[in-house]
Amino acid sequence: MRNRMIRRAGLIVLLLSCWLGTAGGYAAEVHNVRVWIAPDHARLVFDLSSEVQHKLFTLKKPDRIVLDVSDASLQSNLETVDLSGSPVSLIRSGSRNGGKDLRIVLDLKEHVKPKSFALKPNDQYGHRLVLDLYRDVAPEAPQKTAVASADDPAALRDIVIAIDAGHGGEDPGAIGPGRVKEKTVVLGIARELNALLQKERGFQPKLTRDGDYYISLRSRTERARKMNADMFVSIHADGFRDHRARGASVWVLSPRGASSEMGRWLAQKENSADLIGGVGGVSLEDKDDVLAKVLLDMSMTASRSDSRDIAHSIHKNMSKFAKMHKKQVEQAGFVVLKSPDIPSILVETGFITNHDEAAKLKSKAYQRKMAEAIFAGIKAHFSAKPPALTWLAWQKEGRGAARATPSSYKVVRGDTLSVIASRNGVSLSALRKANGLSNADQILVGQVLKIPAS
Ligand SMILES: [Zn+2]
Repeated sequence: MRNRMIRRAGLIVLLLSCWLGTAGGYAAEVHNVRVWIAPDHARLVFDLSSEVQHKLFTLKKPDRIVLDVSDASLQSNLETVDLSGSPVSLIRSGSRNGGKDLRIVLDLKEHVKPKSFALKPNDQYGHRLVLDLYRDVAPEAPQKTAVASADDPAALRDIVIAIDAGHGGEDPGAIGPGRVKEKTVVLGIARELNALLQKERGFQPKLTRDGDYYISLRSRTERARKMNADMFVSIHADGFRDHRARGASVWVLSPRGASSEMGRWLAQKENSADLIGGVGGVSLEDKDDVLAKVLLDMSMTASRSDSRDIAHSIHKNMSKFAKMHKKQVEQAGFVVLKSPDIPSILVETGFITNHDEAAKLKSKAYQRKMAEAIFAGIKAHFSAKPPALTWLAWQKEGRGAARATPSSYKVVRGDTLSVIASRNGVSLSALRKANGLSNADQILVGQVLKIPAS
């Protein structure tokens, strides 16, 4: 598919070179180049004075990427572009078509899959041409299941928390006084939360982004799914035209659209990030259809009640020190909350467009305070309601088992030795020893096992 597209692109380039453009100056200027480095790809963004036609193709021996921009000139020094950490060793330019068209050539250090698309102007930037270079990355190894490998309760699985710092890269999010950007503040809070959860036994935090690059809203929830996340928390800071607007808020997915005017406005703003950051060829119209269906499903799933429970818990902790926008958890149709099977919440940590709140949000101490409140909310929920076969579940059950440990257990269909061990709060090796079992762990339905004291 890709090869065919590249061949076709080459053909179009050939056809274009036969086409004689209008006389006069260049229609567009390329006046700046930015580079964003993500773990799996590098994004090069060319700032343009106006919309352009462009063609992308690759050349081999050595590997190069060629970007032909019709009726354009380069008004920027490519030598000053910082390419460190990117798969590109050199960018150079030339002209084609009697000096009318611009050709940009990228020499590559490694094999990449290129993708290009145009971005329309937003609050911060004008017309842009985006070139994404995807690295060949090995697919993430599937998480090993705790039951198969649990030698002792300590090996039970951790509760995975997907921490999502909103925006990033080309998408700054809301911008406050002194050009303080939402994407920077929320990454700071996300990292603090990550550090807190890392220190807490039974939890395994994972960041959807750990740098200044853009991830589409869809791939944020996809990443959470790949992580086998037990919960997804997206961290944001608000922006509003009226600088008096203030207050933090905690959001869960609404069963049907936004629950208030403010909610609708916010929902539109967060959803439009996909247009800002760019996922070529995807229209919001399609998304609304999908979203509508998912919303319907969502209302019937248990993850919604878990989301609300976690959100309440976080809201309560935040309200101890922060001014809250509403007295309760709010609901909206944010795309990032639409995972039907992962409890998902979105935290707006305050208005970055408000002077007082921006000053707080900028400070490391306040970012930590925010992270602590989110952490406390998450911990309270999962301590009360730990998912099965997690270390936290074992702890909770183990305490109960200590009060009345059954001295024997009759094996039923589907039991495994490690599950029986964790359920009774004893180690697998102790259970084996008490019953004279080998490492083969063969047990029979109806067999009565001695349960040693934990
Ligand atoms: Zn945001």
